[in-house]
Amino acid sequence: MSRFWSPFVESLVPYVPGEQPKGRTYIKLNTNENPYGPSPQALAAIRAATGDDLRLYPDPNAGDLSDAIAATLGLPSDSIFIGNGSDEVLAHAFNAFFRDKGPVLFPDVTYSFYPTYCNLYGLPFRQLALDSAYKLDPGDYMGPCGGIVIANPNAPTGIAMTLDKVEQILRQNPDVVVVIDEAYVDFGAESAVQLVPRYDNLLVTQTFSKSRSLAGLRVGFAVGQPHLIEALRRIKDSFNSYPLGRLALAGAIEAWGDREWFDFTRKRIMDERDKTADALGGLGFEVLPSAANFLFVSHGEVAAENLFAGLRSHGILVRHFRQPRIANWLRISVGMKEDCKALLDATECVISGKTQPVRAGSNDFQRDQ
Ligand SMILES: *Cc1c(COP(=O)(O)O)cnc(C)c1O
Repeated sequence: MSRFWSPFVESLVPYVPGEQPKGRTYIKLNTNENPYGPSPQALAAIRAATGDDLRLYPDPNAGDLSDAIAATLGLPSDSIFIGNGSDEVLAHAFNAFFRDKGPVLFPDVTYSFYPTYCNLYGLPFRQLALDSAYKLDPGDYMGPCGGIVIANPNAPTGIAMTLDKVEQILRQNPDVVVVIDEAYVDFGAESAVQLVPRYDNLLVTQTFSKSRSLAGLRVGFAVGQPHLIEALRRIKDSFNSYPLGRLALAGAIEAWGDREWFDFTRKRIMDERDKTADALGGLGFEVLPSAANFLFVSHGEVAAENLFAGLRSHGILVRHFRQPRIANWLRISVGMKEDCKALLDATECVISGKTQPVRAGSNDFQRDQ
């Protein structure tokens, strides 16, 4: 609080990202980063782009990257909007499509950035309860509203919805934009991109952060019919015409083209996810069916908060949300095989009530607060 803050600034409820610890070597399973690293071709392209050309502004509409994505998806280039991470794309979509129409609808358990965007842009919203298995009933998404946003697969549950349900929501709401946030779609869900030619109210967002392991580069995109893409461009060009730098554009084009690395790494993650889910089930966890690169788990006997603290003392970071309905759940990103092994060992230790793990240098992992 400061006397220079407006009541508006004071009213904001910013999103809280997962911690990015400095100076310690944690096994980071808390922010859904991809453990395999970006395509080597993408890294080479980024290095090659670090030259004198950096004095020049980048292409404001990321034409080459849009063309590459559009060609793969079988759509015209003006169906693609590129942004500085899909968070930015989502923010522009809220700003462009959800104003002055009624409450924005989204599930009660979902990506916590959605209410944050609503607060930022002054949009009323209504959170509709998922059922007791954390599944969404498309029948709930009816009647007058200002727009709809749904993460598929959902976060932090990992549960995917089939495309016939997405279509039901689109058909029930022909006069508002329905945004499908597909940040995790490449880990086992069906993409709504194929519905874009048939629904003028559908906007799909995806990101390079998770399945292409480029969270640090900040590249995301939206797919929709040209009239929606044009609206996003109008917002972008009223805010920041150059959301992606030359290095990001160079890296993203190569990452998009390196299908082999993409498939190799995501298959390994899906495989490790399923094995880890089974193993956690064996340790007494309820594990929601995940189509993402993380697992959402709850233990019958040990409270999530205690597991979170116990794992942290073993040098493993996971995510715990202090929110209604999910306070006893942990979201665990899928790491490499050895990360998941360490997770399972530490979890077993914490559950059985053993204190510190036997491991050299474990004092390094003491909490500092
Ligand atoms: C990670 C994530 C995003 C966006 O990530 P960016 O890094 O901004 O592209 C969007 N939605 C959900 C549900 C996510 O988990």
